[in-house]
Amino acid sequence: MRYLSTRGAAPILDFEAVTLAGLASDGGLYVPESWPQFSADEIAALADLSYVETAVRITLPFLGGALTEDELRSLLTEAYASFDHAAVTPLVQLDARHWLLELFHGPTYAFKDVALQAIGLLFERFLGRRDEHLTIIGATSGDTGSAAIAALAGRERLDVFMLHPEGLVSDVQRRQMTTVMAPNVYNIAVQGNFDDCQGLVKAMFNDPAFASRFHLSAVNSINWARLLLQIVYYFYAAVRLGAPGRRVSFSVPTGNFGDVFAGYAAAKMGLPIDRLIVATNVNDIVARALGHGDYSRGVVTATSTPSMDIQVSSNFERLLFDLHGRDGAGCAAAMAGFERDGRLTLDAAQRTQVATHFDAARIDADELALTLRWAHDRAGQILDPHTGIGLAAARAAPGDGPVVTLATAHPGKFRDAVERATGVCPGLPPRAQGLFDREERYDVLPNDLSAIEAFVAVRATPR
Ligand SMILES: *Cc1c(COP(=O)(O)O)cnc(C)c1O
Repeated sequence: MRYLSTRGAAPILDFEAVTLAGLASDGGLYVPESWPQFSADEIAALADLSYVETAVRITLPFLGGALTEDELRSLLTEAYASFDHAAVTPLVQLDARHWLLELFHGPTYAFKDVALQAIGLLFERFLGRRDEHLTIIGATSGDTGSAAIAALAGRERLDVFMLHPEGLVSDVQRRQMTTVMAPNVYNIAVQGNFDDCQGLVKAMFNDPAFASRFHLSAVNSINWARLLLQIVYYFYAAVRLGAPGRRVSFSVPTGNFGDVFAGYAAAKMGLPIDRLIVATNVNDIVARALGHGDYSRGVVTATSTPSMDIQVSSNFERLLFDLHGRDGAGCAAAMAGFERDGRLTLDAAQRTQVATHFDAARIDADELALTLRWAHDRAGQILDPHTGIGLAAARAAPGDGPVVTLATAHPGKFRDAVERATGVCPGLPPRAQGLFDREERYDVLPNDLSAIEAFVAVRATPR
């Protein structure tokens, strides 16, 4: 399998190189050259397999020989041994139509662990083989940072610089990052919002004088390997609910469009997904783009679902590439227009294409509170607010087929918001015991590219 940039002007890479590269050198994102196809029989055969075995089947065709099947199996076995549920991503039924897919059983109790636990091991394997060192620079609205740090802390050949918006991540999220004392982990609280952090990371990658000194890479969902590992649970859940004989819909709490893009990839690979419901909070750039063709940057509003408080969704570019007939030049021109004007409009044909897969819903604070209360009172479930956004959109969806809402975080990660809506304060997961007793370490820096570059430059290992 080979990988192309969505902007068509970066080298074509294999899986190992694409995993280590993160962003493409032309500013685009890497996508596979084609989608491996799974027949109905092959999908049906997944029903008997464990999570790890399912992951081996789904991911192997994307690796192009970067690992043997046995190497992949042992790597994934090690990655998912850190999860506290034997099913890794268990399904929970809420009522006749609705299920939750619990993606929060990893070390930092949010769905990002599902991909990052494996990626830490892939990095270690590939860097050892090449005798290289990597400087990981990431932006986080909370969950990516803690999951990346849990996956990469203490690993050799890697430094991690994680930017989070100062004061805009929950206490639990911040402490999960800042209490890790591994010498290769640097937390930076940026005086700005998440989009500022993401912009700084992009700017560092695009600054040749800086980027040429270090071997920079990313663990944001711009990294293809992350999305690949998220495709697995769409297959895993759908076959348990009757696929390929029965069509299943998924409702996905969406920020950067990574998780739901993995669902789109599963559909492209042959999984009979009925609808992909893209659920946003009031920061609704993706809902507007998919609903009305209007992808235009707004002002970020802080909400009780901080991991979705963004107004530029990096992975939307991967869909845009398909909407441009996989023409990198066309996609690059559209993105250049967006970067110039802060707006991009989908034409009628593109909107028709979007409508074959996606529905979109924007959920406000009142609808969220009602849904959290419904889940608690009617289904005996305390949900995290991100999951609540997904479930609100799922319950509003027309039709009567099964809908799986991705439960993207444990409610204990967002205790205040849950308590405000339901009156119930969720407990922390057992693994979080002691989090509030530990010492924290982080630096506060201004929203200024040269200040951040100077901080990284004196700490990172040069090429
Ligand atoms: C990251 C995150 C999301 C958004 O996922 P994207 O892939 O960025 O769309 C939703 N919920 C939680 C809890 C998250 O951590």
